[in-house]
Amino acid sequence: MIEHQIMFPVYLIVALFGALIGSFLNVCIYRLPRRESIAWPGSHCPSCSHPIAWYDNIPIVSYLILGGRCRNCQVRIPIRYPVVEALNALGYVGLLWFFGPGWSTAVYGLLYSALLVVAGTDLSHKIIPNAITFPGIVVGLVSAATILPLGLVNGVIGLLVGGGILWFLAWVSPYLFGKEGMGGGDIKLLAMIGAFLGWKPALMTIMVGSLLGSLVGVTLIAAHVIKREDYIPFGPFLVCGAVVSLFFGQSLLDWYLGLLAG
Ligand SMILES: [Zn+2]
Repeated sequence: MIEHQIMFPVYLIVALFGALIGSFLNVCIYRLPRRESIAWPGSHCPSCSHPIAWYDNIPIVSYLILGGRCRNCQVRIPIRYPVVEALNALGYVGLLWFFGPGWSTAVYGLLYSALLVVAGTDLSHKIIPNAITFPGIVVGLVSAATILPLGLVNGVIGLLVGGGILWFLAWVSPYLFGKEGMGGGDIKLLAMIGAFLGWKPALMTIMVGSLLGSLVGVTLIAAHVIKREDYIPFGPFLVCGAVVSLFFGQSLLDWYLGLLAG
């Protein structure tokens, strides 16, 4: 563990960097579903349009200092802001811890941040923006061909298997379950995940995502938070599944194959 101790200052810097990027991801989560530019204008309160000063825009810290309210109009700032910043910081540190310094780790960081944006927009607007998934698929394939251990062929197979399975489920689910299952956004999301990670982690993403989705859905229905016919966005569960596959995919696969060989 001596390596991790030497790395401590690096982890700290990466955490700060991750929180700053997280702050930008919040801008994307707010603006992409509204089809607003993510570059202009600068940050302002969506309620009173007051520009947000740099000292009120420090990831996580400003939220705590301001007590979760706009300095100007006192409107509540959604808890999503510090949560996304903290999750992105944690994710970057976790990726560095797991995969060590290198270009692959940076690519996984990019995928992780894209997944956070998707989870955010799907939760808030039930939208998985093409502005994330289309460039994501291209970046995934290019990275698979150049940087990632995956290779281009496996990236393409991952894209086809991931997108194909969800496309098939979306096609049959109205007949099987009598209601719309997956949306087009989910299909493109899993195609992107497959392009980055390959077909096995893409399958694992669906399995873990469906399991989590069912558990949370059943719990929420039992607790009368939602009704049976209510729509639950599937994207955030796929995102959880993808993050699990990204970090633990190989260990889970080894364990599973060990069981089969057992
Ligand atoms: Zn305000």
